[in-house]
Amino acid sequence: MSKYRTLAEKFGTPTYVYDLDVVAQARDQLFGLLPDGVELFYALKANPHPEIARELRAGGDRPCRAEISSTGELGNALAAGFAPEEILYTGPGKTDAELERAVAAGVRLFSVESASDLRHVGAAAVKHGVTASCLLRVNTTASNASSGIRMMGRPSQFGIDAETLPALMPELRAVPGTRLVGAHFFTMSNAQDEDGLLGEYEFVLHSAARLRDEVGLPLELLDIGGGFSSPYAVPGPRTDYPKLRAGLEVLLDLHLPEWRSGEVGLACESGRYLAGSCGSLLAGVVNVKESRGHRFVILDGGINVLGGLSGIGRLLPAAVDLDGVDDDDLRTGSLVGPLCTPGDSLAKAARMPELAPGDVVTVPNVGAYGVTASLIGFLGRPAPVEVVVRGEDVVSVSRLDYHRTYEVTP
Ligand SMILES: *Cc1c(COP(=O)(O)O)cnc(C)c1O
Repeated sequence: MSKYRTLAEKFGTPTYVYDLDVVAQARDQLFGLLPDGVELFYALKANPHPEIARELRAGGDRPCRAEISSTGELGNALAAGFAPEEILYTGPGKTDAELERAVAAGVRLFSVESASDLRHVGAAAVKHGVTASCLLRVNTTASNASSGIRMMGRPSQFGIDAETLPALMPELRAVPGTRLVGAHFFTMSNAQDEDGLLGEYEFVLHSAARLRDEVGLPLELLDIGGGFSSPYAVPGPRTDYPKLRAGLEVLLDLHLPEWRSGEVGLACESGRYLAGSCGSLLAGVVNVKESRGHRFVILDGGINVLGGLSGIGRLLPAAVDLDGVDDDDLRTGSLVGPLCTPGDSLAKAARMPELAPGDVVTVPNVGAYGVTASLIGFLGRPAPVEVVVRGEDVVSVSRLDYHRTYEVTP
């Protein structure tokens, strides 16, 4: 029942398959939704697999840049071929050691989330005798979108409160080793509603223009965030935003007309839209049991391979690929993993064909927030195999490894 059946036979399960052709389609689709000249940062948080990041950088006429927030992601971005100057370093908890590694590797663009974060970046830069270009991440005073995950307008570990910037600017401008070059907004994620997304961008552009005019913040690079939505662990296409490009151009002309001359550089960022649709999880059926009238299909991978974020309240409604299954043959049941916790559930009432041990189910659209967003160490099973394909061709087969290394032996 799975188009990847032979890969499951060859490499076992649980296995992720990522199709680079789909990565390329997602990249080209998203660039097509944005005005010409808008850059796109790929958030490696979604999937740090170097092959996926490489495809986003190297294929197509408009290459993505990389957005990272750890030394591990730095290594993945460099392994994928990103030059240090193509990388933006973000995150609320950059340690001095991480910053020094990044600066030593040649990274010069940072998004800073507080005055002290900026000083830490500056200290690392001074140590290496260089200047770091910094975007101020702004926590806007309010936002007007009604859908998606809203990130701003409240107390937050992310960003500098916009209302404090007038008083703070002289101090921020004077931090040795740094140069303020722009602003970074990331106000929402996974916005299905196009009008909501445009409303959010209007607010962001308005806020950025005000900061430039009122506190003199330069806008050599204005990162207006993302919010582009893509299905997660359920079938369906990436969200289309037919009005986005024209709508964004109108808003830009209204609030920041200099964008057309390139005087204001613009960027968006995305993880799930670029990587989500390329990935499928193949899981093997270990057992099928009935309990008090309810069917449980027990798979060989659960929240240790997918959806560990359900631990923070994001319950998975995972669905299996029903391609070629007759409606009359559908059953309803829970999809659960092998872990000894009732939390190991991928779906409570999934539609599925009759399944038996040895069958393989496919969970679609899990190229983002899959393996590395899961509880891979929980209950000690190996990480899933990750197979990268381009159409029919297998490009690479790998598996993350974790093991204890002793720093001190008594
Ligand atoms: C997580 C994150 C992203 C990616 O979000 P998606 O919803 O996967 O597109 C982009 N930018 C920042 C700052 C993030 O924290």
